[in-house]
Amino acid sequence: MKLIDYMIIGAGPSGLTAAIKIKEKYPSMSVCIVDKNKTIARKIKASGNGRCNIGSKDITKQSLNDLNYQKEVFNENNYNYFISFLKNDLNIELSYEDNSIYPYSKMSQSVVNAYADKIKDLDIKIIFDDIISFKNETNFISVQSHDNNYLVKKLILSAGGKSYYKDYNNDKGIIKTLKTLNVKFKDFIPGLTGYILKEDVNSLFGVRLECSVQLVIDDKIIFSEDGEVNFKKDGIGGIVIMNSSNLYQSLENKKNVKLLIKPFKNDNITNIKNNMNDKLYDYLLSKNKVVNKNNSSSICFVVDNVYGFDYAQVSIGGVLLSEINHSTYNLLKYENIYVLGELLDVCGVCGGYNIMHSIISALLLAKNI
Ligand SMILES: Cc1cc2nc3c(=O)[nH]c(=O)nc-3n(C[C@H](O)[C@H](O)[C@H](O)COP(=O)(O)OP(=O)(O)OC[C@H]3O[C@@H](n4cnc5c(N)ncnc54)[C@H](O)[C@@H]3O)c2cc1C
Repeated sequence: MKLIDYMIIGAGPSGLTAAIKIKEKYPSMSVCIVDKNKTIARKIKASGNGRCNIGSKDITKQSLNDLNYQKEVFNENNYNYFISFLKNDLNIELSYEDNSIYPYSKMSQSVVNAYADKIKDLDIKIIFDDIISFKNETNFISVQSHDNNYLVKKLILSAGGKSYYKDYNNDKGIIKTLKTLNVKFKDFIPGLTGYILKEDVNSLFGVRLECSVQLVIDDKIIFSEDGEVNFKKDGIGGIVIMNSSNLYQSLENKKNVKLLIKPFKNDNITNIKNNMNDKLYDYLLSKNKVVNKNNSSSICFVVDNVYGFDYAQVSIGGVLLSEINHSTYNLLKYENIYVLGELLDVCGVCGGYNIMHSIISALLLAKNI
């Protein structure tokens, strides 16, 4: 059986980027990508509401769960390398909205196509197969799917997190194997997601509202941001809510967490009825919540829980950063096994930080190996 030089599990932004840069660096080596789905870059396609918010110009904003690691990866050199990769390797022109970076077309499909073209140009093989385990032998790694066994010199795990797609099964395959290899792993929980609320908000379904959002626990404000929220049959979503959910998920005691929604930024508005979404106004009246002239007052909801993985944009958790070499991304215990992107215990807020991290981690691996 032929030994493959580099096998990359997962055709998301981290795996595709790693494959491209490794093949460019070592053209004579065999590089292949394995994905259990028949299409590549599914999450890129779904990202940014079909527009793909691929990165952010603001690398100093606190965006990743681990600030020290963020400083390592989101520095000016790496950011420039990231932009150069998009422009020069993928041939994507960029457009900027505030700090957010999008493909010039504002279509995520362009990014998917650009990756597919580059993979084809470099003659990188894509195998559609579902990897269920791997074993570290003396001179190689054996990788198993249900039907095949591959022998590889170096294995890159870029299999992503647990969010969004119902067909996720890494718990049984890659993660289970990592755990049997004694690699420390923080179990995934949903990140960047919405809240199920204790109140009955069915009548608010579909209401969108520009507002200030605060998360309060025991009368202490732990999160405050402005943005648009949207009501669901039993809860609330929107970018600002998703950003707050990562913090909520880090709380040990999730009882008694309140969400304060301040509907008006402008305190001069005194006629509430004429300036508020009528469904929201009716809701407030029906619940006997005071709609007083003091419009600076906030509407209070009690958080019951977060929505599950189906609704979440990312997974919080993954291989602990203490388990990997921060320059080459190999596991400290197994130097020929590497971990990238969302499979690491790295989670960003909305704004392009998750895809940017996935791509930068792959760029660094390829540069430093
Ligand atoms: C709806 C939605 C919108 C989003 N919008 C944005 C956005 O605008 N900006 C942003 O920065 N982030 C966004 N994200 C998050 C971002 O898409 C992910 O963080 C990013 O794709 C992670 O990249 P990755 O390469 O680590 O993994 P993934 O993109 O998840 O790719 C992993 C791949 O591995 C494959 N795989 C998994 N297990 C196996 C196995 N056992 N065998 C073979 N293959 C396997 C999967 O099929 C998948 O193709 C969004 C996510 C969602 C769900």
